[in-house]
Amino acid sequence: MRTTVIGSYPFPAWLEFAAQHLTMFGAGDIGEMQNDAVVAAVHDQVQAGLDVITDGEQTRLDFNLSFYGYLEGIELEPAAGRRFGPPAHDQRGKHAITGEIRAPRGLGVVEEFERLKRIAPAGPVLKASVPGPYTLSGRLQPGGANRDRWAVAEALLPIVQAELLSLAQAGCMEIAVDEPSMSCYAHREDPARFVELFNRTVAPVPKSCRLSTHLCFGNYKGRAVGPRQYAPMFPAFLDFDAAEIHVEMASREFSELELIGAIADRKDVAVGIIDVKSYYIETAEDVAVRVRRCLRHAPPERLSFAPDCGLSQTARWATQKKLRALCAGVGMVRKELGLA
Ligand SMILES: [Zn+2]
Repeated sequence: MRTTVIGSYPFPAWLEFAAQHLTMFGAGDIGEMQNDAVVAAVHDQVQAGLDVITDGEQTRLDFNLSFYGYLEGIELEPAAGRRFGPPAHDQRGKHAITGEIRAPRGLGVVEEFERLKRIAPAGPVLKASVPGPYTLSGRLQPGGANRDRWAVAEALLPIVQAELLSLAQAGCMEIAVDEPSMSCYAHREDPARFVELFNRTVAPVPKSCRLSTHLCFGNYKGRAVGPRQYAPMFPAFLDFDAAEIHVEMASREFSELELIGAIADRKDVAVGIIDVKSYYIETAEDVAVRVRRCLRHAPPERLSFAPDCGLSQTARWATQKKLRALCAGVGMVRKELGLA
């Protein structure tokens, strides 16, 4: 019954401001800001009492510092087709592919993990998160040699794979290979094909490294993009070569919760029991009720508890309260069960 998080954490206000005015800062300033932001994210997570923490993805400030900024053979997106009005995916453009896609400097996650190691106190498990090739392909425009999204994902596979191996070499024991695009589009693609792509990506990762994956329905600006049902992807997704699968339950009012029993028969299951899209702040008692519900379907040694998704779209004040409630509520049930 570990308490854990999906990668992202809200930016502090000053970081948000700085990210929009990066040209005002020098490289040294930006490096200092990145460190300070990770210090803040780690502080909040440790204060909440989480068993597993991340760097909150605080350093992926803009295009150049994001994964796409590490890729050669692509061109920064032109302005998105729609720039005003309610937030949606069409307000983000797709980057054009202009040549062979390469990442000679890697994807930056190893540096993130090294920074997290320097900053985090002893105690919590340190988790790094890398998007899988299918999710990463979502913002690249297919064309030419890369006929469709599957072909783009194939081109990205060796890059993601190399990053996973470098992370393992750097001593990272816990890596989330996140493929939310697979859960968003499983209703219209072949789920077995997704599993094959995922398993090929992670195949060379040493077994000492614990792999997990996060299957949500999208949270860009707090909005979902897929039909919010797990039925289309299971049982196929049980074949993922990952030690843990994370599913989003809180915002879906625990629909299909029995699924966690089927996952727990094969591997560990992390359950999203904090709604990152709602400003209703769960109490510790709410969390305890949700944990007990999960225990009707899966044994405690198979379960972890987490928010539904990354927290980057949830205000920091709410995030702090929600994570504290998560840890307090899980703690209450641990006590009832006589667990440490
Ligand atoms: Zn998510």
